[in-house]
Amino acid sequence: MASRYHGAVAALATRHGKARAIAPAMAEALGLGIIVPAALDTDSLGTFTGEVPRPAPMRETARLKARMGMTAAGLPLGIASEGSFGPHPAIPFLAAAHELMIFIDDAGGFEIAEEQISAETNFAALEVTPDADLEGFLARAGFPSHALIFRSGGEIVKGIVSREHLDALLRRAEEPVRLETDMRAHLNPTRMAAIGKLARKLARRVATPCPACGRPGFGVVRAEPGLACEECGAPTGLVRQLVFGCQSCGHEEIRPRPDARQTATPAECPECNP
Ligand SMILES: [Zn+2]
Ligand SMILES: [Zn+2]
Repeated sequence: MASRYHGAVAALATRHGKARAIAPAMAEALGLGIIVPAALDTDSLGTFTGEVPRPAPMRETARLKARMGMTAAGLPLGIASEGSFGPHPAIPFLAAAHELMIFIDDAGGFEIAEEQISAETNFAALEVTPDADLEGFLARAGFPSHALIFRSGGEIVKGIVSREHLDALLRRAEEPVRLETDMRAHLNPTRMAAIGKLARKLARRVATPCPACGRPGFGVVRAEPGLACEECGAPTGLVRQLVFGCQSCGHEEIRPRPDARQTATPAECPECNP
């Protein structure tokens, strides 16, 4: 069955080449085309480097950004994505990438958002001191295929993609230097891949109508733990079932695990294997 968006076009608000990751996902799952309006100032909604603070939480920022693109293009459909990077919420000493993508349909009167939190990121920073491991940092950051940001005193240089450029900056720096990974998508292939993955997830969700109200956007809203131990029957931390929900009408349905697993092993049980 052709999707309700087959042949339609959505505005994608980005200055960082995200169409490369998002357009194929939307075309494949929905038959939806993407245009990127020129001359959008999405940096007014906040930058990673902090010169412009984000005025609102991620979802609101993504919504504002999508609306900016829809207004510029004069289209009722819009897409935008936002990323934020920091310590992993569950795993100490690991960095995490939090990506959010929103799809707005003004004709239908709804929006659909998908998020993902992943440890697949090069997000990191280094204070360049005499005993700092510069080479180790550059390798972990994926430099030069992934760009860096240089900060020293009041100076900030973004989008550094060559060793010559970096060395020249380091040589003439008089104040302490801090290097950071540049998280803008077009300069960070790891992030671009994460955005592509999230776009496919969002597109699949938009392609799935709610069984109650018929609007697009039915999908997993949360996973409930408590898969029972096959030995003693105690609930474990493993996922027992998935809850699917509609972001428009709030309808929810409980579905079994996709792998149809119904029990946990004693090795995974806090009672049998404390
Ligand atoms: Zn058990
Ligand atoms: Zn619904």
